[in-house]
Amino acid sequence: MTASNPLLQDFDLPPYSAIRPEHVEPAISQILADNRGAIARLLESQPLETQHAAPDWAGLVLALDELNARLGRAWGPVSHLNAVCNSPELRAAYEACLPKLSEYWTEIGQNKPLFEAYAALAVSPESAGFDDGQKTLLAHALRDFRLSGIDLPEAEQQRYGAIQMQLSELTSRFSNQLLDATQAWTKHITDESALAGLPDSARAQMAQAAQAKELDGWLISLEFPSYYAVMTYADDRALREELYAAYCTRASDQGPNAGQFDNGPLMEQILDLRQELARLLGFAHYSELSLASKMAESTEQVLHFLRDLALRSKPFAASDLQELQAYATTQGCSELNSWDVGYFSEKLRQQRYSISQEQVRAWFPIDKVLSGLFAIVEKLYGIQIVELKGFDSWHPDVRLFEINEHGQHVGRFFFDLYARANKRGGAWMDGARDKRRAADGQLISPVANLVCNFTPAVNGQPALLTHDEVTTLFHEFGHGLHHLLTRVEHAGVSGINGVAWDAVELPSQFMENWCWEPEGLALISGHFESGEPLPQDLLEKMLEAKNFQSGLMMARQLEFSLFDFELHATHGDGRSVLQVIESIRDEVAVMRPPAYNRFANGFAHIFAGGYAAGYYSYKWAEVLSADAFSKFEEEGVLNPETGRAFREAILARGGSLAPMLLFVDFRGREPSIDALLRHSGLVEEVA
Ligand SMILES: [Zn+2]
Repeated sequence: MTASNPLLQDFDLPPYSAIRPEHVEPAISQILADNRGAIARLLESQPLETQHAAPDWAGLVLALDELNARLGRAWGPVSHLNAVCNSPELRAAYEACLPKLSEYWTEIGQNKPLFEAYAALAVSPESAGFDDGQKTLLAHALRDFRLSGIDLPEAEQQRYGAIQMQLSELTSRFSNQLLDATQAWTKHITDESALAGLPDSARAQMAQAAQAKELDGWLISLEFPSYYAVMTYADDRALREELYAAYCTRASDQGPNAGQFDNGPLMEQILDLRQELARLLGFAHYSELSLASKMAESTEQVLHFLRDLALRSKPFAASDLQELQAYATTQGCSELNSWDVGYFSEKLRQQRYSISQEQVRAWFPIDKVLSGLFAIVEKLYGIQIVELKGFDSWHPDVRLFEINEHGQHVGRFFFDLYARANKRGGAWMDGARDKRRAADGQLISPVANLVCNFTPAVNGQPALLTHDEVTTLFHEFGHGLHHLLTRVEHAGVSGINGVAWDAVELPSQFMENWCWEPEGLALISGHFESGEPLPQDLLEKMLEAKNFQSGLMMARQLEFSLFDFELHATHGDGRSVLQVIESIRDEVAVMRPPAYNRFANGFAHIFAGGYAAGYYSYKWAEVLSADAFSKFEEEGVLNPETGRAFREAILARGGSLAPMLLFVDFRGREPSIDALLRHSGLVEEVA
């Protein structure tokens, strides 16, 4: 098996097409066993017992990097395929490995001799010559040993391990049930009049989805492009309501598939276990544990930050809603419901600015957007991006690009851009391989996977993006650049590794700004037939419409952030998940969804992703990203000097220094909230 198992080979890029579910478990088991042996030998060879000699960097940190890299080389492609090409067989193989991996990581986190070796290295004579990155890496390592229960008595250490193992299974099940619930519901339409209001692109995509299942007519699904099109454009109010109900009850005890994929019990178990974990480690609750590795200093600081923003934005949200209701009334809708908001917002936007998301699509064909995006970052950061051909892939739509600088290879990234069946929803960047200097001196270059769920190409036309989709692409590309343009060569703090989670959205939200700048738009837009740039009047309308209903948007994001943070801070006080979200809505929301809404059951960010008691990170980092961008507003949005300065201060240094230090280094002062409020239109106009 070893000889023929592609996951055990030494490859440059993963041999995706050769990976089979039956390769997964044997490869992971083999690597875990090998690594355990190697760690034991490594510790034996470390001169821990003598007073004079301390472990050295290469013998300890680099040796462990090597073991982690081998594990990551096998597990990375498996977990990636599980997300983008899910199948029952792969899912079973993936899940079979989760407890083994959880056990392995707990074992490392609680390995006393290993901890002592790190502690000794941190105060060794060699450490006097360490750079910032090395020092930070060691400090993080020692912190993470503590957060893994290194100081606990044995029985509690075992309980810690059992909790982690259960959590990894439960969060994976949460994600699976959400995917299954999303796939389980479709609506077959045979009478085109039901689709009145929908743009041609959406109809074409729905017809394509029907054909793929050998049906005539159109197939509406809960995949985002389909859901979004109906909620934004369908004149048929009953259809909108039906789709809304199906979408916001996914994986719950409500709606058309009530109880079939219910994440409710899982959520309670996940919250119980997180709470227990936090207490075990000496924290008051899980939100406090979450902050132990973040930029924010205390739960009070986070709550104050969110509540202050809520207070400032609520009047804007209320007047946005009033305006929308007034407009809807003129259109014969006297009572605005959740399934009307997107629809009338779009109509009002069209009336006021004569511009629609759909109309601008024609100016954002994928290749133009990509070439413009690349031109912007090439100018700002002094890099070159070229497309590579002839590589192994998991789907024919996938593309591969290389970044070069002064003719030198920097890194590569895969794009997997379009929504399809058996692919997890949303958009994300995953650091597939870390930049690092190996013990033998070889420099390993980074690789990133960028995944989105855009509307696919239909009717032989190129894929045409909405401006929202363009913004998402820029966002994920910002994460990608953070991972790829690092100059740090220590794996633990290179790229996005070791970056405090509430600072990690800085480079991503920062990149979104170029989607709104005339100079940026000129580069990323061009009509897919005529090639003509976005007309000036359309551009002006887009800019005018930028902060259309930004108060409502802000209120919604604050609702999610406060809900997540409160939930993890107060779990166990007798309130249910629903009661917590209701109390947050009392505080910040200006509109209530129907009682059957089960938003939390699909909130994968906090129940299956890394954002537990950390969803506030988006807003927290937006203060940083907006303020960082304001320097470009002052000095020119395509100013290469400002771009280089941002790259060297923030992108290049990854997790090697505390985020506040990096920010101050770039901006010359601590961050201020003013730019965020101004960019979001949340300041009173002064005449
Ligand atoms: Zn992000």
